[in-house]
Amino acid sequence: MDLDNHLLYIDITNKCNLNCEFCMYKEERRKNPLGLKLNTLAKINISNILNHPKTERLIISGEGEPFNNLSSIFDILKLSKGNKKIQIISNGLWLVSKKSNSILDRLNSLKVEKNDEYQIRISCDTFHIDKIGENNYKKIIGNILNYNKNIRKIEICFRGILEEKEKILVMIKNKFLNKGDNIEFKEISELEVDVIINSNIKLNFIFKNLIDLENIKKQNSLNKYIDSLENIYHKPFTLGHLKKDNNGMDITIKPNGDLYFYGAEIYPIFNILEDNITIKKLERIIENNLILKQLYSTSFNKLIKSLKKYKPFEKIINSINNPYWVVKKMYSFNKNKFEDLIKC
Ligand code: SF4
Repeated sequence: MDLDNHLLYIDITNKCNLNCEFCMYKEERRKNPLGLKLNTLAKINISNILNHPKTERLIISGEGEPFNNLSSIFDILKLSKGNKKIQIISNGLWLVSKKSNSILDRLNSLKVEKNDEYQIRISCDTFHIDKIGENNYKKIIGNILNYNKNIRKIEICFRGILEEKEKILVMIKNKFLNKGDNIEFKEISELEVDVIINSNIKLNFIFKNLIDLENIKKQNSLNKYIDSLENIYHKPFTLGHLKKDNNGMDITIKPNGDLYFYGAEIYPIFNILEDNITIKKLERIIENNLILKQLYSTSFNKLIKSLKKYKPFEKIINSINNPYWVVKKMYSFNKNKFEDLIKC
């Protein structure tokens, strides 16, 4: 298996300034609020992974709001040796604060110094918009457009829910942009739309399906989501970091420093605060683990056919619409059965 284009995804906090009722990390945050603080070993480990030539992208996110842990954002960004694609995922509320321009300026000067590409991705769905408030959301978009008015300094894009795609685009046009502006929608794929303002400013929107862990709102929504991804990438969907070229490892670090392969494992492989970690070590783990190897290299649709032979797994597959959560649920329900069916 030739792995390339790795993704390093770091959740730097589980604390959040919104505390949404619908948040899937609400309980964990209440019981054990955490913020990642990098020690020397963690800095070496992150630098090893981030600056490896096969690492394609770094995403800084949270099981909460990453801008609540601003010092760690900058500690991580400073580790780049340049020419990296870096995305920070946020609920966007900090963009209405008085400090927003100075934070954007600091990010912009570090980006220029390192010669990296930065993108900030803001949640854009009716749940977050309701929680933030429409007036604040309008201010967020206004501040973004104003900050990038003369020259685009920091790229900001939006992430919505696939089931709300039309509704959100209409809302953006009618509620959050200026009435006199000429707005066009340019469909990039089923999951991506560019909103073009006055023929020259572009706001990019990515839509993903809403994770449904409870019941079947729409039959076959897992299949439909996988079909959309396969149409975009022109190849079968597998776990790992899906790319048009070779797929890479999907390396996730949690606020306590635990490192996982996203979706493929429910237990941590290493902890960045305590273990020495290199890309080579991680690649070796996948090579020597038949289950991980299967999940990373075999079409997910094919694996699902085999896993459905066991009735409780069939129920899980039919009731959850996200491939990563499907794997997690089956694995925690019956690890041995899961491994037996994956192997054959
Ligand atoms: S903004 Fe996101 S992370 Fe924060 S509470 Fe809401 S859903 Fe959770």
